[in-house]
Amino acid sequence: MKSLLPRIEISLPKIRHNARVLSTLYRKKGISLMGVTKAILGEPLIARAMIGGGVKFIADSRIENILKMKAAGVSTSFVLLRTAFSQAESVVLGADISLNTELETILELSHQAKLLQKVHRIIIMAELGDRREGVMPCDFPAFIASVLSLPCIDIVGIGCNLACYGGIEPDNNNMGQLSILANTIEEKFSLKLPIVSGGNSANYRWYQRTLDSGRINNLRLGESILLGRETVNGEVIVGLHTDAFRLIAEVIESKDKSSLPSGTIGRDAFGNVPSFLDRGVHRRVIVALGRQDVPVSGLKSGECLEILGSSSDHLVLDGENTTLSVGKEVSFGLDYKALLSAMTSPFIAKSYVSQYS
Ligand SMILES: *Cc1c(COP(=O)(O)O)cnc(C)c1O
Repeated sequence: MKSLLPRIEISLPKIRHNARVLSTLYRKKGISLMGVTKAILGEPLIARAMIGGGVKFIADSRIENILKMKAAGVSTSFVLLRTAFSQAESVVLGADISLNTELETILELSHQAKLLQKVHRIIIMAELGDRREGVMPCDFPAFIASVLSLPCIDIVGIGCNLACYGGIEPDNNNMGQLSILANTIEEKFSLKLPIVSGGNSANYRWYQRTLDSGRINNLRLGESILLGRETVNGEVIVGLHTDAFRLIAEVIESKDKSSLPSGTIGRDAFGNVPSFLDRGVHRRVIVALGRQDVPVSGLKSGECLEILGSSSDHLVLDGENTTLSVGKEVSFGLDYKALLSAMTSPFIAKSYVSQYS
């Protein structure tokens, strides 16, 4: 069978390996993992690879992705990372646990759970500086008291999320605050909080440096499992694969051309006035891939091919040191934003590799 182009090649053994290394590492200080599948559109095979590598939960921000994994027979505890009021019924039906920050929404979850004769489990998120989702710590006790009065809701933990909106690094200070919050709530309400979920792929450096991880016993990891990096500095985590995903596309033109456009420069396809470096006449390679498929700034060419620019459907490369001809394949590494859109594009086929390459 001829391979489809463009396609994203996904190495399941590499993802499983990354999940295993991270599970083993974090388990040393009693931290369990949620494997986060939102960047890969809840692909069931990838979720299975994460579970095979030892993650205890699968977490996604979209209930649709969770329903897709369940329909495919993935069996684990599913956590919904972002809860919308209007989806309360499917959240109760589809998710085992959801992350929450608003009383109105939890009230609706309780209402729907009652209709369905279920108990819905929640993790309440605390705002510890990143200024995205979360209940302010000073409001936490009153918030918990209100939730405890609801009949069909079970609080199974608290959590926080940093380094997403405000770029705030997890450190001993904010992680310490989360631990204190857990202890305070447990004492005040004679409650047990089995899950204290301290963050995401940005928590790696804190974890490596801290002598005491306190009450933190869970992290929610997407990028470090999928792409092998922590996210505060974008550094590779020792022992992990960074190339579990490769984007492969096809050369559709290869010609010697002047590197400078000729004529009067106006605006390009996106309304910008472009400028160019004079490289003389050189080999220019066009690949059938464009901004419609991926943000080109998120692509890394592995074959000494410099990316010169792109439009909606064409990627222009400096092919001076290559012998790429029409029909040949070119492969690219992806960063998180490129992975996210490549996995979502209807034009990019998905191809699973089950052997180590
Ligand atoms: C996306 C997300 C994560 C995972 O983030 P990574 O940087 O991919 O590890 C964790 N928690 C929440 C709430 C998220 O939205």
